[in-house]
Amino acid sequence: MTGEKFLLDLGEMVFNMTLDWTKRFESEYPESWHGVNTAMGIKQPIVWYQYSKDERYVKAVEEGIRKLMKYHGQPEGLFSGDEMLHGKDPTHGTELCTVVEYMFSLETLFWITGNPIFGDYLEKVAFNALPAQIKDDYTARQYYQMPNQISCTKEWHNFNTKHDETELLFGLETGYGCCTANMHQGWPKFVSHLWYATSDNGLALSVYAPSVVEVFVGKGKKVEIEEDTDYPFSDEVVLKFKKGKKVSFPLYLRIPGWCKGPEIKINDGEVFHPQAGTMFKIDGVWNKGDKVYIKLPMDIEVSNWFEYSVVIERGPLVYSLVIRDKWVKIEGEGKYGTWEVLPMSGWNYGILKECIDKKDKEFKVKFNGLSGYPFSPERSPIVILTKGKRIPFWRQYGGIHGPLPFSPWWDGIRVDTPIEEIKLIPYGCTNLRITEIPVVK
Ligand SMILES: [Zn+2]
Repeated sequence: MTGEKFLLDLGEMVFNMTLDWTKRFESEYPESWHGVNTAMGIKQPIVWYQYSKDERYVKAVEEGIRKLMKYHGQPEGLFSGDEMLHGKDPTHGTELCTVVEYMFSLETLFWITGNPIFGDYLEKVAFNALPAQIKDDYTARQYYQMPNQISCTKEWHNFNTKHDETELLFGLETGYGCCTANMHQGWPKFVSHLWYATSDNGLALSVYAPSVVEVFVGKGKKVEIEEDTDYPFSDEVVLKFKKGKKVSFPLYLRIPGWCKGPEIKINDGEVFHPQAGTMFKIDGVWNKGDKVYIKLPMDIEVSNWFEYSVVIERGPLVYSLVIRDKWVKIEGEGKYGTWEVLPMSGWNYGILKECIDKKDKEFKVKFNGLSGYPFSPERSPIVILTKGKRIPFWRQYGGIHGPLPFSPWWDGIRVDTPIEEIKLIPYGCTNLRITEIPVVK
């Protein structure tokens, strides 16, 4: 920032004394790396790129994320790590420290590169993984979370690092205390990285979320913009210029890679159809009272995961089969304590192959509106209804479900149980869930 030579020399010395993350991401298969350290280290080559200007460091990060997700990726946007990286099985865990540190790395990567893909990665983690791992009133958190989490109890799990089998319990010291120290950085850092200043004296919007920004733009003029939205539970965002005199500056909007048919309209003017996965630039002369309308239509998407299970997504949200839960306090008094979360409804469902085949007809999306803290099973703003069948031979083993039955989408598992309606809600709203769902016929 200052160009001071002795600081740049110091930066180079620190860089050279640090683990060679660049070489790691370029050449190694991500094996027994520590999850949290990897989440922190993923930004290091691009931080250095600011000084070196060598594209090698940008490519190393892109390659690193690609490999982490290919070999360890989970649908909530993270790589498994309990505590070491642990492959794609949905009963392997991810530590809360990994969630918040990966978010901060992605915020930094977007800031330096302006590449919208880092916004896509960030919103997936922020709107799915982060809220799932923390109790609604913020008095407790888990140490590990799992995409398929049928109970949170003090018993045996398939984790490679254990802490007296308390890793899935909600508490302040379950697992290890680091996650309590770290959980509070998730949302504040996220909010402070929604809007960015740009090198051409403009403003860039990374991830959509309700917010107000007060900022100096153009030749140093102050504006205030309110971002009015229920995103990610709504596909509409309105930017309202609240304060400030006439000013000219470029406004950049991230168009998510998943969006088909995005629309942007300024006041009552023409409608633009920007390309998905880009930063859309508006060279505007802005006045108080101006409005920018952004519409990001969300479609149901089905993707394939471990043992050919399916994951249902809609826009930035991942949807899980919700398991009704019961919280049992096993320690502590008053507001704080340690809880087990027990399943009160069935979890061993598959999703009907014909629903996957005719997804627009067989998935019914219901909107409940927002009231209070939305990341809760009772207050889930969106519910998706579809059909499934129970898989009787898929049973519990220890504190997790037994091996995920192999279910190729072109066929599916034949079961003779009755067809039932099944309910999916956003991953971030669940406490107990099946996210990687087998396919049945
Ligand atoms: Zn931790």
